[in-house]
Amino acid sequence: MARDCVGRRRERPANPYNVPMDGKGEKRGVAILGSTGSIGTQALEVVEAHADRLRVVALTAHRNHRLLEEQALRFRPLMVGMVDEPSARELRRRLQGTGIRVSRGPESLLEAALHPDAHIVLNAVVGSAGLPPTLAALGAGKRLALANKESMVAGGELVLRALREGGEIIPVDSEHGAVFHCLRGEEMRFVESVVLTASGGPFRGRRREELASVTVREALAHPTWSMGRKITVDSATLMNKGLEVIEAHFLFGLPYSRIKVVIHPQSVIHSLVEFVDGSFAAQLSLPDMRLPISLALSYPERWGPPFTRTVLPELERLTFEEVDREAFACLDLAYRAGEAGGTAPAVLNAANEVAVDAFLHGKLPFLGIEEVIANVLEEHNPRPVCDLRDVQEAEEWARERAEDAVRMKAG
Ligand code: NAD
Ligand code: MG
Repeated sequence: MARDCVGRRRERPANPYNVPMDGKGEKRGVAILGSTGSIGTQALEVVEAHADRLRVVALTAHRNHRLLEEQALRFRPLMVGMVDEPSARELRRRLQGTGIRVSRGPESLLEAALHPDAHIVLNAVVGSAGLPPTLAALGAGKRLALANKESMVAGGELVLRALREGGEIIPVDSEHGAVFHCLRGEEMRFVESVVLTASGGPFRGRRREELASVTVREALAHPTWSMGRKITVDSATLMNKGLEVIEAHFLFGLPYSRIKVVIHPQSVIHSLVEFVDGSFAAQLSLPDMRLPISLALSYPERWGPPFTRTVLPELERLTFEEVDREAFACLDLAYRAGEAGGTAPAVLNAANEVAVDAFLHGKLPFLGIEEVIANVLEEHNPRPVCDLRDVQEAEEWARERAEDAVRMKAG
């Protein structure tokens, strides 16, 4: 077990994040990082539905300058950030004369996260590139609406340390959003366990041998959720649930032995909390990410009207199954990395990012994803995480090892 580096605790002010409440007449300013993605575009739908309460102050994206331009002209943020430099130059040319400032490079994410008019920072970037803005937003005492689970997995200890100093996290991942809302008004000492539900992805019910030849196209056909490509593959391998187990460990402070996973193909129960008296609480809705996004932006209020129809007619068809841990070995790899602690979760996540990318580019078979991650983890000696550099060095090492492993399998 890696040694812990515990940060200094500071008294928190009564209202640390200063999010305007209804009736104050001021709109909540939202910075959306990753606005061109699946979560980002749905977040803009939520903002549009609540234009009387929310306003967009900053938007960022990787390289889709056409969509970012369209979003900028529609939502009129004060700034936009484009990570890819040539795309940023193009966007700057196109937005000339609009008064919207265009920033470029990875620093633009920090600029958006630190924007003085942003009360809430929605981190919907994919991958551990989301970690620096997560830390920046918390460091500035903001509310962080967190979809980017990879930042919690890679830098969970750093995130917790930043959180002790200020800011708050409202999870956007649907499972963690569900747990968060089941825990409203509860004390953690009365919580026995958290049960994360998993749809099982497109390959639910298949045996391990049957997974050897599945294609990218099949892996991208998720039965209940429409999401970005990376998380869709993670859902097919069940690494998504593995990452979520680690995310839950850091968010709710529970040991791994008290974080369970159950397959629930309909994705109606978004997760459960078990209390010490044997009772369970759950959150239900039809699968629609606009609900957890909206909850994170409206908290502690709830805003209507609903985005989906009522869940009641679905209740009679809800089913549950155990995970086939042999066919979907990524889940146990994540538990193992989580238990090992220190840099191990960052290494797991970085190896997964490389392996998924290789699979999506036809350089690795589906089962190769878990093999690459297992190889890299095997070679890794977890070290304590004291600062961002520890995480980044571990990730760099893991990426190189994973790329080697992909090349060996291709050759
Ligand atoms: P996506 O691929 O659709 O969108 C990713 C966004 O991040 C895009 O706007 C892209 O421009 C930006 N981006 C990509 N690489 C970047 C980089 N290196 N630096 C800065 N920006 C970058 O992904 P998504 O499905 O919207 O998922 C976003 C995050 O939310 C992921 O962490 C995912 O695990 C999590 N999440 C998604 C869903 C969902 O329903 N899509 C559900 C739960 C959690
Ligand atoms: Mg989820």
